[in-house]
Amino acid sequence: MSSYIISFGKPYAVIFICISIFLLTLCKNFFRYMAMYFLAPIRNGVVRDLRNKLLSKSLNLPLSYYSDERKGDIMSRMTSDVQEIEWSIMQTLELIFREPLIIIFYMIMMISISGYLTLYVLLFLPIAGLTVGIIGKSLKRSSVKSKEILGNLFNIMEETLGGLKIIKAFTGETYIQKKFATVNQSFYNQSVKVYRKTDLASPISETVVVGILMLILFIGCKMVFDNNGSLTAAMFIGYFAAASQIVPPIKQITQAYNNIQKGVASEERINKILDAEILISEKENAKPVSAFNSQIEFKNISFAYRKGDTGYVLRNINLSIPKGKTIALVGQSGSGKTTLADMVPRFYDVDEGELLIDSVNVKDLKIKELRGLIGMVSQESILFNDTVFNNIAFGINNASIEDVTKAAKIANAHDFIVALPEGYDTNIGDRGGKLSGGQRQRLSIARAVLKNPPILILDEATSALDTESEKLVQDALSNLMQNRTSIVIAHRLSTIANADEIIVLQQGEIAERGNHNQLLQQNGIYKKLCDLQSFK
Ligand code: ADP
Ligand code: MG
Repeated sequence: MSSYIISFGKPYAVIFICISIFLLTLCKNFFRYMAMYFLAPIRNGVVRDLRNKLLSKSLNLPLSYYSDERKGDIMSRMTSDVQEIEWSIMQTLELIFREPLIIIFYMIMMISISGYLTLYVLLFLPIAGLTVGIIGKSLKRSSVKSKEILGNLFNIMEETLGGLKIIKAFTGETYIQKKFATVNQSFYNQSVKVYRKTDLASPISETVVVGILMLILFIGCKMVFDNNGSLTAAMFIGYFAAASQIVPPIKQITQAYNNIQKGVASEERINKILDAEILISEKENAKPVSAFNSQIEFKNISFAYRKGDTGYVLRNINLSIPKGKTIALVGQSGSGKTTLADMVPRFYDVDEGELLIDSVNVKDLKIKELRGLIGMVSQESILFNDTVFNNIAFGINNASIEDVTKAAKIANAHDFIVALPEGYDTNIGDRGGKLSGGQRQRLSIARAVLKNPPILILDEATSALDTESEKLVQDALSNLMQNRTSIVIAHRLSTIANADEIIVLQQGEIAERGNHNQLLQQNGIYKKLCDLQSFK
């Protein structure tokens, strides 16, 4: 700089300094932006991959998992916890790369000026680390708790939006609102705690570090005053300037450390889903299955929902369903009909006995191919917020409009579909909310028709309907059942009277079996049920 002043004069030197500072700032900000620019795909990529992984895991988890875990909680893990991890990753990157470099740089400078003084810094620095560590641990606990409460909050939201009609009908608004407000308040309390703990780290670490610096100042000044040549005033000023530079990065690191603790808490919650055991899994050498040829056999099957429980829902079921026949399951609600039918597509695995399809245990088959053989129409029609076309063609790749129309005609649904404002392209609303119950049911049937499965499971497919639409749906079902092997669960006995075999279940056991006339003659439970429905 002095030689520059000599050769060009003072005004030019000032210009030189101004331009240099400007250029350096430009560089700094350019590179800072570039760093952020290239970090954006990384942070978002992690979030995207985690969410994909979580959804794919949720699809693979057995249905039983969802009886225990609540949907809102899983949703909060997919959203808020994943977001927390994104933050945590950013902080980790800075923690690993930027701040330590700065600290190391100044440390080297300090050691080169006075190793003796630096010894004191190194001696006292762990105190700062310790306090921060303690706060971090406690923060992690609080963070887990706050995320759990958030899961509850999501649950209530999910249930509220799903049950709006009933909430309004039973004027349950105040109840729901109170329930929500209570959970919301406890989330507020917990969040305040978390924020306060997070914000505690940096003031504490700054105070501790400045305390250490003052100690250094005292010792350093004393060394200068002693004037024995080990430390000159000029050197000490340089030393102190370097030492004060390590305060901001230490503050940053403590802040980052705390955010990472929150991220770790979220990661643990996410891993709970990712590591959950897939109880219904495919064997490695699972057999392919493309057709159904002879029969479905239930051999001495017993099953309980809660394992290790004696409360068997199914007990010693023996049953064979030959190809092309229709088996009806009847019995009181809670007698295990749905459970029995759920065994066939392996929604649950049997606890004892075995379920064979064409003499092969279902556990040895490829799950997707096994389910590919089965069509299902249940009491509650499960439809998606999508067009009529996409709902019928659900699960089928590139279905043509001709096929879909044909399926809709067989299901007695074509007429009402074309009367919709946009025909097959009409969006049917959440869970098909824009359609009537009977229409929804017929869409579910059309979906099964299009899939054209050899095995059919109809679980109370008509019981939610009025007589007129029941007639339409019943006709649709008869069309569907032609040339197929069917398991039919029905409330109304008139609909199953001509089944090849009727199985009467009672508390998970087969109480009576035979065709309609045989069972009437037995004068047992079935006869009683028929009498109750005035059905001969
Ligand atoms: P049905 O279809 O004959 O009315 P289910 O097969 O649905 O009867 O239910 C049989 C029994 O199993 C009932 O007592 C019910 O409480 C119990 N159950 C059904 N689903 C579950 C579940 N996911 N978890 C625990 N128990 C269940
Ligand atoms: Mg049922």
